[in-house]
Amino acid sequence: MTKPFSFSLDSTSGKARTGTISTPRGEIRTPAFMPVGTAATVKAMMPESVRATGADILLGNTYHLMLRPTAERIAALGGLHKFMNWERPILTDSGGFQVMSLASLRKLTEEGVAFKSHIDGSKHMLSPERSMEIQELLGSDIVMCFDECPALPASRDDIAKSMELSMRWAKRSRTAFGERPGYALFGIQQGGLEQDLRSQSAEALKDIGFEGYAVGGLAVGEGQKAMFDVLDFAPDQLPTDKPRYLMGVGKPDDIVGAVARGIDMMDCVLPSRSGRTGQVFTRLGVLNIKNARHQNDPRPLDENCTCPACKNYSRAYLHHVFRSQEIISSMLLTWHNLHYYQDLMEGMRQAIASGTFAEFESAFHSTRAQGDIDPL
Ligand SMILES: [Zn+2]
Repeated sequence: MTKPFSFSLDSTSGKARTGTISTPRGEIRTPAFMPVGTAATVKAMMPESVRATGADILLGNTYHLMLRPTAERIAALGGLHKFMNWERPILTDSGGFQVMSLASLRKLTEEGVAFKSHIDGSKHMLSPERSMEIQELLGSDIVMCFDECPALPASRDDIAKSMELSMRWAKRSRTAFGERPGYALFGIQQGGLEQDLRSQSAEALKDIGFEGYAVGGLAVGEGQKAMFDVLDFAPDQLPTDKPRYLMGVGKPDDIVGAVARGIDMMDCVLPSRSGRTGQVFTRLGVLNIKNARHQNDPRPLDENCTCPACKNYSRAYLHHVFRSQEIISSMLLTWHNLHYYQDLMEGMRQAIASGTFAEFESAFHSTRAQGDIDPL
């Protein structure tokens, strides 16, 4: 018999929660940060290196994979885990957000979204049913409902209409997903910055019933204060006994603030993308490795970090390989950034388990305030 998908909430500290998601492919310790492997790779990292940073789960992108190499090809080759050599859990997004941000000639109807590929101009259709089919072909452990995410700012009327459409699509997603023991389908709350619309969305999703719930429609340009204002109430509108996932977030201080407000899972391209552009996250702040002040500096990026970039290389070396556009620069800086993010999650999990999350949060901010920060 297949092991079921389940979530156990182990401890809370204030609103912050720590727990464990169990899947047939392994456990996910929460709060969890999911590195993004858009095109079946976390750029510049081997899968075993991603695992070595402490990641329990990766995120893959439906939109990119359906266009290239196609979900059907990946399924024929044994599924996404085998294809990319990552045997642990994978969450895939629904393609809904990326089709709206990347594809051309989009046409949104009740049925779904027709569009042209940004790669070769070929015509495609994404609907709740097609998104569920693609995510099943990929073999994703956590499947996301197909939804529409309106760009902010938008009128209250537009946000309400879009949220209602997403709730109808959530129901169609649930029906199309069917019964798949060991796999999970997550609903996505919409409603912009409006508390009552968020509440209506949460009620609609709870009526349908999901294995987990995402707070969607944030981190789309509203700013940290507006996002935290929504997170002050949105997670409380969702079930306490299911994982809560904040999509597309974020900077280290966004992540700490989201966990403080009751979020269990997050994903973001920031640590990996920044690794390729020379932006480095440390306990003390953000470094820009291309800054000339690093060129003679024998110190590591972060004295306390145990990643290969910090154990074996100086800032001077990392500055040199970045300026020389050597591939190892992306490899080492991405590794460090992902390691930093996973260390941050582990620190939060331990603080929540010992009931000291508030102390962790104030130490996080005061350490950064001392600052080893480059102007960007
Ligand atoms: Zn490091």
